[in-house]
Amino acid sequence: MNAPLKISMPAEASQAPKAYKLLIDGKHVDASDGRTIERVSPGHGFAVSRYAQAGATEVQAAVQAAHRAFESGPWPRMKASERAAVLLKAADLIETRLEEIARLDALESGKPIAQARGEIGGAVDIWRYAASLARTLHGESYANLGDDMLGVVLREPIGVVSIITPWNFPFLIISQKLPFALAAGCTAVVKPSEMTSASTFVLGDILLEAGLPAGVVNILAGHGADVGAPMVSHPLVEMVSFTGSTRVGKMTMAAASNSLKKVSMELGGKNGQIVFPDADLEAAADAAVFGGFFNAGECCNAGSRLIVHEAIADDFLRTVKALAEKVKVGDPLDDRTKVGAMISADHMAKVAGYVTAAKTDGGSVFSGGGQLASNAGQYLDPTIVRGVTEDMAIAREEVFGPVLSVLTFETIEKALHIANNTPYGLSAGVWSASIDTCMSVARGVRSGTVWVNTFMEGYPELPFGGYKQSGLGRELGKRAVEDYTEEKTIQFHRGQRTGWWVG
Ligand code: NAD
Repeated sequence: MNAPLKISMPAEASQAPKAYKLLIDGKHVDASDGRTIERVSPGHGFAVSRYAQAGATEVQAAVQAAHRAFESGPWPRMKASERAAVLLKAADLIETRLEEIARLDALESGKPIAQARGEIGGAVDIWRYAASLARTLHGESYANLGDDMLGVVLREPIGVVSIITPWNFPFLIISQKLPFALAAGCTAVVKPSEMTSASTFVLGDILLEAGLPAGVVNILAGHGADVGAPMVSHPLVEMVSFTGSTRVGKMTMAAASNSLKKVSMELGGKNGQIVFPDADLEAAADAAVFGGFFNAGECCNAGSRLIVHEAIADDFLRTVKALAEKVKVGDPLDDRTKVGAMISADHMAKVAGYVTAAKTDGGSVFSGGGQLASNAGQYLDPTIVRGVTEDMAIAREEVFGPVLSVLTFETIEKALHIANNTPYGLSAGVWSASIDTCMSVARGVRSGTVWVNTFMEGYPELPFGGYKQSGLGRELGKRAVEDYTEEKTIQFHRGQRTGWWVG
């Protein structure tokens, strides 16, 4: 039995929870009925934040404000260079406040502080990338329609966008959406997860300071049914950009279909890392541990299925186990921590339930396996389950915890079959020294991203999104701003019209 984790209480524990108001039309406001949501740090057990809790009245006010800002405000009409300047200023301000934002995300989500700093640094880069795209957004012209015609295709901002985000990467995910919507000239209503809203409220302040006009971005804290659902069904909203579970994504898409809104969906994953005997096995083992346990496995891109060639399975797994046992689990605010707290007690129980079910179904716990005792917060031991077969829930469903399921194969066909045998299609990894093997897997896997001899890297330049039930559409990449536009075709005619319809 391991000694209980010793979690130190940070200074915030002896202070009142930090209060956040809703941002509507450039003003910080309380909820009309005075309700609030309190967030308890999952790593420490004290109340860290208190947000005003929005409801139907606030959704109405926020959408109206975004609509006014779109219809008659300066933002959609500005030069792209002016919008880019605001985004660049915002990026600078995020960078200045990086430590504060990282700490809020670590305290509210339980993620390690060092990792949170990396995420906020990555977000700064994305805001700068979006600023560059604002200035390159353009349409098309057709001078090949005859001497008297000119066709021009404009890209216009789509309008008010409802943006809904999950709890696992609070600041990073809003940064994969909002700067691109803003670059296009859209206005937005944003709902972060009810568990991790603080850093999004800080972003709201940063945007006002950077010069964003009132009403262009409105931020509401609240629950999915009370706030997310009316943000999706509201008739003045033209597009919904959603990141979250496949279950809620499907509900959201169904609701958006009533008014035929454009949707962008970034959903769950059940990603496989395939390891061949000729790979750099030391690097692959490290990536297996990283893929399985990064962000405590609470990651859409988690490499939650380790698909290993039979010939190396025993030796390779011994290496993986040795590394897994070295992973430092504990206080999210400790710089050395690699795996922090689980987001909630309910979620932790759900994850543990998958491990129990796998044991009942014939799998065996090879490493880790349970809840870690601690003086505060909720923590799970990084766990490796062997003897997993394709039909088990742990191999098919998104576990979303620090649990690595091991499956084995003998042929490349079988490896591909296993990798693809899931309703999801977000990402995959392949480890081999053979270009043929790597290319066969990269071409054969049905997923939006494939990492070859690396894992879970991300760059704003590269599109990201899912095949199958992992989503719809792509974020990032050079077309990320286009996603928030409509195309308008204008046909110009010059000179005397001929060819009358009525003689
Ligand atoms: P979730 O689906 O429970 O919630 C996501 C957001 O939707 C939250 O803000 C929630 O309040 C809101 N919501 C809930 N019900 C709603 C409704 N009826 N209408 C509108 N909004 C509603 O997801 P979660 O638990 O916060 O996040 C984890 C999930 O997100 C995992 O499945 C993970 O794979 C996925 N995710 C995907 C990506 C990606 O890029 N593909 C990235 C991160 C997380």
